[in-house]
Amino acid sequence: MSCPRIEVDLGKIRCNTQTLVERLGPRAIGVTGVTKAVCGHPAVAQAMLDGGVVGVADARIRNVQRLRAAGFTGPITLIRTPMLSQVDQVVQSCEASYNTEPLIISALAAAAIRKGSVHGIVLMVEMGDQRDGILPENLADVAQLVMQVPGVALKGIGANFACLNGGAPTAFQMAALSALSNRIEEVCGPFLNVVSGGNSANLPWALGEHSTGRINDIRLGEAILLGVEPVSGDQIGGMHTDAFTLVAEVIETDAKPPPFPFGQIDPTAERLRIVTTDSAFARMILAIGHQDTDILGLTMPVGSTLIGATSDHLVIGTSRSLPTVGSEVRVQMNYNALMHAMAAPDIKVKLLGDPLPRPSRQAQSKGERVALV
Ligand SMILES: *Cc1c(COP(=O)(O)O)cnc(C)c1O
Repeated sequence: MSCPRIEVDLGKIRCNTQTLVERLGPRAIGVTGVTKAVCGHPAVAQAMLDGGVVGVADARIRNVQRLRAAGFTGPITLIRTPMLSQVDQVVQSCEASYNTEPLIISALAAAAIRKGSVHGIVLMVEMGDQRDGILPENLADVAQLVMQVPGVALKGIGANFACLNGGAPTAFQMAALSALSNRIEEVCGPFLNVVSGGNSANLPWALGEHSTGRINDIRLGEAILLGVEPVSGDQIGGMHTDAFTLVAEVIETDAKPPPFPFGQIDPTAERLRIVTTDSAFARMILAIGHQDTDILGLTMPVGSTLIGATSDHLVIGTSRSLPTVGSEVRVQMNYNALMHAMAAPDIKVKLLGDPLPRPSRQAQSKGERVALV
């Protein structure tokens, strides 16, 4: 089988999605599935949709176009503010986009009018992450602009936390976001459909005991895909953490300790990150490297240690019996490693698990199965 590859268990992704959708549902919070870490992989997006997300979101138009080209018909939101140079593609393939810049909103409106459609605008508010966002005091003005311009419709507001700065948001920050949504409705009139309260880092808040206020959407990538809560790195109870596995091939085994003293390694080579001189370790080399993934985001197999990596080689020490050359080694990835590996041209994606979506309730009642798009 082709190596290196990522094995993706679609059943686990669907199940993780369903678990979160069921926990957040009683709190009146819908889940938007974020596909950027899998480069908009259509089967993963479909597994999220089958698990009950209200729609999917991605940061890059190329990923959105990949979804559309595969026949994905669910709603897609662009969660990075569009590039001015891409507004036509954005209105073509996304129902809505996150925005912070009046100039870009006007360009989206013009593009939507050219296409004869109306593009949804979610305004991103700066609530402390200091990445993208409109300052709260300027939000009403931008919202009014969206209201006045034909071609765009104000769909809602959203905030982002724990990306560039800081940790998970406080209940105080979340209450402020709810209050802002009320204020925008007072000033602008329309009901805000979406009040999107952050990403996976905000799950502990969303599932907490307190009121969730006006927040009715959360955008989840890491929690669905890897089953972990990003700030602590802890597994979320009842979730699969092994939906993705990176499989690489052994190209050399070497029972000997390194033949050179540690001190003589050329310091400019910057090759070895961690060096063990423990001769109890036998070494093996896998045909994968920095060009394929974030090596430090890999969890080595039990009994193994990362010795180092170069662009194309991964050197592992193991206290267990060495695998034979040509055999496969399986490792787990964190979000960063997953994101890079999914984008790596030399890594194939192999889908596992039931490729058929479970029948929707509607179809079940009619005794039909839904076709996979
Ligand atoms: C990436 C991203 C998300 C999803 O983040 P996760 O930590 O994967 O849940 C949500 N919102 C925005 C704006 C993003 O860029």
